[in-house]
Amino acid sequence: MVVENIIARMVRNTSSRYFAFEDGRPQPPCAPAEPIHLYIHIPFCAELCPYCSFHRVLYREEKAREYFRALRREIEMYRDRGFSFSGVYVGGGTPTILLDELLDLLARIQHDFSPADISVETNPDRLDARTLNLLADAGVKRVSVGIQTFSDPLLKSIGRYDKYGSSEMLKERLAKAKGFVQTLNADMIYNFPTQSRTMLEQDLEVLKEASPDQITFYPLMISDATRKKMTDLMGRMSYRKERHFYSLITSHLAEDYRSSSAWCFSKKDTSMVDEYVVVSQEYVGAGSGAFGLVGGGIYANTFSLPSYCERIFRGEFPLSARRLFSVRELSRYALLMGLFGLSLDTAPFRKRFGSPPWWLLGPELLFFLLAGGIRLDQGRIRLTPRGRYYWVVMMREFFTGVDNFRDLSREAAGITAR
Ligand code: SF4
Repeated sequence: MVVENIIARMVRNTSSRYFAFEDGRPQPPCAPAEPIHLYIHIPFCAELCPYCSFHRVLYREEKAREYFRALRREIEMYRDRGFSFSGVYVGGGTPTILLDELLDLLARIQHDFSPADISVETNPDRLDARTLNLLADAGVKRVSVGIQTFSDPLLKSIGRYDKYGSSEMLKERLAKAKGFVQTLNADMIYNFPTQSRTMLEQDLEVLKEASPDQITFYPLMISDATRKKMTDLMGRMSYRKERHFYSLITSHLAEDYRSSSAWCFSKKDTSMVDEYVVVSQEYVGAGSGAFGLVGGGIYANTFSLPSYCERIFRGEFPLSARRLFSVRELSRYALLMGLFGLSLDTAPFRKRFGSPPWWLLGPELLFFLLAGGIRLDQGRIRLTPRGRYYWVVMMREFFTGVDNFRDLSREAAGITAR
């Protein structure tokens, strides 16, 4: 675990610098010449899961309707500024919690931008045929459902058993949900402190039977603020177990799935929509607490829902923070995301940054070459099987950095309920 520990420390230090935002209220970014991706955040959930570090609040219909009105306006403001969107990812929270509003929002997006791809996250209680048909009619190509685990004891201890159903119910809902949209993705989490090898093997067996088009297996990621609560609830996490479980997952899924990122596995015979951070160099974030990456800078919207709505209804962009990256920082981010998608084509990288990756990121690449994490192959840098786990560690630490920033921002916005 020596290499993994070095990598984890490296990424943790770098992410804390990435999220050291400038003072003052930022101006909105200028529209790029080409269409980019749009991330939309819907923060409402019926229950708040104890391990979750996302920006989420308890669902109240009236507040959610006002929020959707603000979201529509924010996206129009980007349109009026010259932005165009080729792909849309709706995440949360639970984006399908108020379906009529979501469908109305998607219809407006279709009208204004005709994006090629729309991906929507949901929870297992929204996997009914009516909802899936309506989403498909709205142009949704990928539905990603948060299953997390099929183990009843684990579902009970993370508070999802009563709300989203037992292992049997989840399995039945997942199996019946296939075929409505191009890609049905099951979001899973591994390395809960009380999760045994047998529990993970049970998850893998159920997935084999239910056979969704795509499976995303996230390692448990908890922010510093959530760590104590999770330790009290389930005990301490082990990164040794994480590595061991990751190799179990990759070997089990290899028969029916191909890797499409370090933690996403897709059916061999299906063309897939992958995670937007991998496929999009630039994206706008709409909604409270959403992040965007545009014109070499990262932008964050306010985490306060009242302030988000008020500012939009006053005709202002609800941005609360910005950090412009240097070329080296941006090229590091491009390497992290590119190789998370398993390989990086060096020619577009050179075109974008004016220098080859070796020139800009020589020490990092040499480190991963010597550690056996990457190999060079006809103008591409590719992850080796060992490198895939290194990238899981890097992305886990990167997203933990994002979660820590979210926690601080939520605290500053007066949101403390967990
Ligand atoms: S895990 Fe999903 S359902 Fe649970 S609180 Fe987080 S966003 Fe909401």
